Amino acid sequence: MHIETEVLIIGGGVTGTGVMRDLALRGINCCLIDRADLCSGASGGNHGLLHSGCRYVSNDLHSAMECRKESAILKTIVPQCIEDTGGLFVAVKGDDLLFAEKFPEYCETASILCESLTPRQARELEPLLSKDIIQAFRVPDATIDPFRLALLNVADAGRNSDSSYYPHTELLNFSLEKGTITTAVCRDNKTGKKTTIHAKQFINAGGAWAMEIACLAGCEDVSLLYSKGSLLISHDRLTNHVINRLRPPGDGDILVPGGTVSVLGTTSVRTDNLNDIRPTVPEIDKNVLEGAAMIPALATTRYIRAFSGVRPLLQSGGSGDDREATRGFALFDHEGQNISNFCTITGGKLTTYRLMAEKTADLVARRLNNSTPCRTHLNLLVDDESCRWTEPGASPKYWYQSNDPDNMILCECEMVPQSAIDEIISGAPGYEKEMTLEAIALRSRAGKGPCQGSFCGIRIASHLYDRDFYTDQTGLTHMRNFFDERFKGTRTITWGAQAAQMELAEAMHCGLLGLDMIDEPSGEK
Ligand SMILES: Cc1cc2nc3c(=O)[nH]c(=O)nc-3n(C[C@H](O)[C@H](O)[C@H](O)COP(=O)(O)OP(=O)(O)OC[C@H]3O[C@@H](n4cnc5c(N)ncnc54)[C@H](O)[C@@H]3O)c2cc1C
Repeated sequence: MHIETEVLIIGGGVTGTGVMRDLALRGINCCLIDRADLCSGASGGNHGLLHSGCRYVSNDLHSAMECRKESAILKTIVPQCIEDTGGLFVAVKGDDLLFAEKFPEYCETASILCESLTPRQARELEPLLSKDIIQAFRVPDATIDPFRLALLNVADAGRNSDSSYYPHTELLNFSLEKGTITTAVCRDNKTGKKTTIHAKQFINAGGAWAMEIACLAGCEDVSLLYSKGSLLISHDRLTNHVINRLRPPGDGDILVPGGTVSVLGTTSVRTDNLNDIRPTVPEIDKNVLEGAAMIPALATTRYIRAFSGVRPLLQSGGSGDDREATRGFALFDHEGQNISNFCTITGGKLTTYRLMAEKTADLVARRLNNSTPCRTHLNLLVDDESCRWTEPGASPKYWYQSNDPDNMILCECEMVPQSAIDEIISGAPGYEKEMTLEAIALRSRAGKGPCQGSFCGIRIASHLYDRDFYTDQTGLTHMRNFFDERFKGTRTITWGAQAAQMELAEAMHCGLLGLDMIDEPSGEK
């Protein structure tokens, strides 16, 4: 296959999708590729905290102020992806009192609102807070759904231009001619076939993979370190506010409500291996131990999943402590490396993705002699029906509203109906011939409840067989891949009620369906 476009964006995280929308609003057509699918990197493996900036006031004032400004913009332009929960910073007995004392001053320097509360007032707001709380502040933190955000960016770009998104399309190499990239050579990871993409401008939005991608064009100016963070998802929502530990950033010091659940994290461990990122038992134990100091119920609650993501940290010398590294972003204009039509955007945060996209689009638009200014801080991100299924707790509402007895529920934990799956299939580019369960899970809540896909994986695959998406053993292979991926997230939290749940899953998937006996394409079992 050969594709012609004005701009090729490599990487379908929030940054790549943000650049796609920004360019589309300036009338520039682009093609976005991801080697897997949207939010396969850090954008699908984070805390979902829309930072007010308070987290960084003590050690990274620039990032704190950037977060303050950007979170305010996002609350206006994309309110459907945000829950304005508010946040609390709490110190417990034994925490550094000097830090707590200085916190309001740090916030004032960054122009972030911060209201002092007595421990009693804080516990009235959040009854599960520890009785050992000694100090508390209320701040404007919120939560954000990165999946819906990325889906909406892509949908909006499609509405405003001839831009397209290609999942499972991996960049392998560039062809260069006289200091410009002419073509990106890619592989369709589903069919194994080669795709060549010809463009005038090339943008590397590869997140943690940005250094590898830049090197493919011979650019050696992108220098990154990798810090893995692991998080846990609880069965219930434990608090209404984002709860932060009132101390310099450390392990297990943030609890973020995510619709019907809460997300506890995170750790920070240096890693070199980007391709096998998974949580470990010591990381999980550390999160639970530290988190329970703020909210004792975290020691006994049921967890349904753990997951990890990698932060690309910009190398800047410094103390060597990853927590001290800047959370800022960098835009590399590779003209300095003698490539005139290539740039890299990396680092930063989910909260600052829009600004990162704006700076990148400014550079690329200038190179294309397009003087249309950025509009992403002004134009509301219009909702799109097929993107609404990622919202936790929303499916039951839509199902009751549809009032259709034939609209069967396929995922009972999250109440995702058949109509949602059909809507997702019709709106997901690149999956026309063969829909995967992972692609459906990314675009909905299917598989995200306590059974972690054990039942709905089977029901959705049956539905896809009924609709002739699967006709042979392919559906079983997709089911097995989906369960493998879900199991990656449950193996480190398999105790108590979740252990019983996983035993039931094993009996169904291996004992009943024999999915462990399916041949790999290589012929291995
Ligand atoms: C544990 C953790 C917690 C975090 N919590 C928060 C938080 O609460 N709030 C916040 O604001 N920020 C948070 N962040 C930061 C935030 O998640 C990231 O800054 C953001 O998601 C980065 O998005 P991105 O699009 O730049 O990169 P990514 O999301 O990593 O996207 C890069 C994409 O490039 C693709 N790719 C790689 N190589 C190729 C190739 N050769 N060809 C095609 N595609 C390729 C990958 O598949 C991937 O999808 C957290 C990060 C981590 C790791």
